[in-house]
Amino acid sequence: MSASSAHVVVVGAGPYGLAAAAHLREAGVDPLVFGEPMDYWERNMPAGMLLRSSWRASSISSPGDRFSLAQYERHLGRPLDRPVPREDFVAYGHWFQRQAVPEVRRQRVKEIRAGDDGFAVEVDDGTTVDARRIVIASGLATFAWRPAPFDRLPAGVVSHTSDHSDFAGFHGRRVLVVGGGQSAVESAALASEAGADVVLLSRAPVHWLTRSARLHAAAMGLGRRLYAPEDVGPAGLSWIVAAPGVVRQIPEGVRGQMTARCLQPAASHWLVRRLEAIPKLTGDAMQAASNGSRDVRVTLTDGRVLHADHVLEGTGFRLCLERLGLLAPELAGALDDVNGYPVLSGGFEASVPGLHILGGLAAYSYGPVMRFVSGTWYAAPALARAVRESDRRGRRNGGELAARAPRRAGSSGHASGVRARFRALQPHVDEAFRRSGRAGQRNGDLESK
Ligand SMILES: Cc1cc2nc3c(=O)[nH]c(=O)nc-3n(C[C@H](O)[C@H](O)[C@H](O)COP(=O)(O)OP(=O)(O)OC[C@H]3O[C@@H](n4cnc5c(N)ncnc54)[C@H](O)[C@@H]3O)c2cc1C
Repeated sequence: MSASSAHVVVVGAGPYGLAAAAHLREAGVDPLVFGEPMDYWERNMPAGMLLRSSWRASSISSPGDRFSLAQYERHLGRPLDRPVPREDFVAYGHWFQRQAVPEVRRQRVKEIRAGDDGFAVEVDDGTTVDARRIVIASGLATFAWRPAPFDRLPAGVVSHTSDHSDFAGFHGRRVLVVGGGQSAVESAALASEAGADVVLLSRAPVHWLTRSARLHAAAMGLGRRLYAPEDVGPAGLSWIVAAPGVVRQIPEGVRGQMTARCLQPAASHWLVRRLEAIPKLTGDAMQAASNGSRDVRVTLTDGRVLHADHVLEGTGFRLCLERLGLLAPELAGALDDVNGYPVLSGGFEASVPGLHILGGLAAYSYGPVMRFVSGTWYAAPALARAVRESDRRGRRNGGELAARAPRRAGSSGHASGVRARFRALQPHVDEAFRRSGRAGQRNGDLESK
């Protein structure tokens, strides 16, 4: 493979990019991976943050689970805390990268264009790499949601939670944290613990995951039966969304409702106590103004006016292809999408053949686990399998592009009738059973510690 061409280019070296690269390598494809490993977790999540995902849902997928969190603990020779601190997860990600994907190009990709024989990948040093396939795993960075009431405020008095890797700078300041999900609530706790005078403003009262914590801890392994190892969504539904291959076959409306249900704003039970002393208001911000570098006035729809030195937007992320920022217009325009999400077929392939998209943007097709690290358990092996099979077919047909006849996006290659749909589900159901058995083993490893 020359420096200016690669069979597969992976954009991003976070959990999805690393898992994809590890499984592709195992499948005999050596991808060229771009990105600074784990840098989103290092620069855009606050020090002191704890992972919301449970221990068993926080390993990055690797072939044979060789580089799971449990293996990392063994490597360290000491137990890690539960919930896993961000700092430990970042160190784990770096260890994973060194073990599973030793070669990473620590550069940013500027743009991906359609090329003569695939794609042309422009790198930030001005060089271009030709690639037959692209795997986009660039994460959440461009999707931070900054709602309208605050967009006229000067930069110094408003920021998004993802703009910070610690909150020490808020010491002694009045901070209005806006939002009711995990990152808003945890940021409120961390800013307050850093010495800020914090008020939390959310549209609805915070939904605490206390009941779910009780069910998780229920006696006689009940929690393990109610929640799949992927641990996304409420009891029961968790098992359905843990089979993304099945989710992709579910009619669009139902799939959308399931995803929304699993991703509704909520905060971990272990934050309840840390929020006790923080005033929590419910209301909807309508307008915000500031007369300088301090004193922001936020007017709520019911007429109340709040004063703060800084507004911290814990307003989450809105994902859409338009804001991905990586694809040249002709490529972006060729992608089929629904509400800004790419429609992906088997192997996470978009309607432009050879272009694969992993992570949160895959949630429309594959469901809510794609927003979490545990989604790598399905996504990375499925991608590697599809690439290997498509390459094999391509070789048989006398060249890979022959195997890439243009097709409608989202057509899975399966016939569309109900019987065909059920037939198509079978391998995914088998896979879900196989994985749940293996996950039990993985968790057994941990309990023996
Ligand atoms: C505050 C917060 C807390 C979270 N907590 C959890 C949790 O507890 N458990 C959980 O499962 N999930 C959690 N998540 C979701 C988490 O972001 C995802 O699970 C996970 O990071 C997805 O991995 P990824 O590889 O898709 O994205 P990222 O981790 O964002 O990795 C993408 C990588 O791509 C790189 N990249 C981007 N653009 C380019 C480019 N142009 N060229 C080269 N490289 C590029 C980035 O620098 C980044 O390192 C949390 C998210 C937030 C915001």
